[in-house]
Amino acid sequence: MKCPKCGEELKKEINDIEIFDSRVGLLLIRHAEYWECSGCATRLYTPKTVARIDEKRDNKTKELIKGKPIGEFITLVEAARLLGISKQAVHKNRKIYGVKLGRKPMYLRKSVIMYKATHDGRFPLYTPDAREWVTGVTCNISYSEEGVLAGRPSDQYTHLPSVGSSASEVAYAH
Ligand SMILES: [Zn+2]
Repeated sequence: MKCPKCGEELKKEINDIEIFDSRVGLLLIRHAEYWECSGCATRLYTPKTVARIDEKRDNKTKELIKGKPIGEFITLVEAARLLGISKQAVHKNRKIYGVKLGRKPMYLRKSVIMYKATHDGRFPLYTPDAREWVTGVTCNISYSEEGVLAGRPSDQYTHLPSVGSSASEVAYAH
């Protein structure tokens, strides 16, 4: 198979890979399968790897949401009322941060308010501490009061293969 960028031959690799996600921070995928170009080092993830990245991102998203203080959550009824849409519509919406706490679906108030304003209630969930712990390095990125990344994370991580908001947006090869 040839590289879509430069036409050189692609080689199949299996390695641990780190992916920087703008919302949940670093994702480590062990023994990930991908194709790498011998010419320009472009990587193409296999569908299996893309699915694993998606799964890992979903799990980490849930984990990070669950780590938020209980006072930052509102109920499904409150979220539906705030948005002026049905409970079912809130429940189905993947752009609002929500988790089950016990058996009750709860939503981050900030995410609901953000969704109301921009139709996308997803914001960076990770903290600089968590990233330092994962990478073992400190980096100088400025954070706003709420710990939300102020700069563009991709600028700081040019050495890592970056993905868009969803792994399914990543180019992949069979
Ligand atoms: Zn190439």
